[in-house]
Amino acid sequence: MHNQRRRFFGYVLMALLVALFVAALVSTTPTALASTAQGKLVIRYFDLEVEDRDSLPANVDPDVTSGDVILITTPDGQHIMIDSTVPHLGTALVTRLRELGVEKLHYAFATHPHVDHIGGYQTLLDHIPVDVFYQINLPYETSGNYHRLQNAIARNNVTMEYVECGDVFQIGEVRLEALNPPRGTSRETVPGDMQMPTAFVNDLSLVLRLDYKDFSMLFTGDIYMAREMELLDAFPADKLKVDILDVPHHGCVSSSSTIFLMTVDPKYAIISMDGICSTPVYNKYLQRGIEVFITGYNGEITIVTDGDEIEITTEKELRN
Ligand SMILES: [Zn+2]
Repeated sequence: MHNQRRRFFGYVLMALLVALFVAALVSTTPTALASTAQGKLVIRYFDLEVEDRDSLPANVDPDVTSGDVILITTPDGQHIMIDSTVPHLGTALVTRLRELGVEKLHYAFATHPHVDHIGGYQTLLDHIPVDVFYQINLPYETSGNYHRLQNAIARNNVTMEYVECGDVFQIGEVRLEALNPPRGTSRETVPGDMQMPTAFVNDLSLVLRLDYKDFSMLFTGDIYMAREMELLDAFPADKLKVDILDVPHHGCVSSSSTIFLMTVDPKYAIISMDGICSTPVYNKYLQRGIEVFITGYNGEITIVTDGDEIEITTEKELRN
């Protein structure tokens, strides 16, 4: 009898342990971890795939998926999006955000009105509430994607504000500061007959510096070397020095001047691109001892920090 009772309690204890183990497993699935990582700052570079290839228009290549799309989740659980990749990944973006438990975006930024940055917002805005949408004050009238984005903002009654150098966002303990475009940028500051060449628009990209305790990161959109130089002139070096650099213009040869890299002096660099845009640029980072991550090779890239230690995990190993 005594032994049986002991065995019975043994079974109860084991059942309890199993239940606890299962509960622990359920609560630490990637989905549950995603929205907040135990009070840490999480920055994700998505690497999305087209969900329904057959539904794409004939002129869209489903394998062309380069574009910036970054989700920042603050330690207190606020979600900030920087850019939204190309339009044909809009549905996949909404799916991924839902998998991560993101029910709304507190801040959505568009660095500049090019399709590989604003494309996904057309779909996203119809499915995920956004508190405030921030874009640079640069009407890009010749672009259908620009108009579709403005229509999506309007039909979803999303509050829209312009963002420019000097704007500061204090989001819990996370601070974002806009370093570009220059203050006062507007349609009036664009030369009247200018058809807005690519370089002109790229150089007006929103540049955001993020600080959280001792951690810092610089998001650069698609700025070119000319604007890198202007930032070097406009700011003291320590304003540009960060732990992680979001590599300007997808790592292409237009950007990442040596002096800019020397000043920013990051430990890590992240490139949103299907592959390596420019081998010399890529090598320039490696030669400086900077560890480089590329969405096209690494898949989704996740940065987690407590404001001191930085942990970067990737979906796939980098193929060299
Ligand atoms: Zn781009």
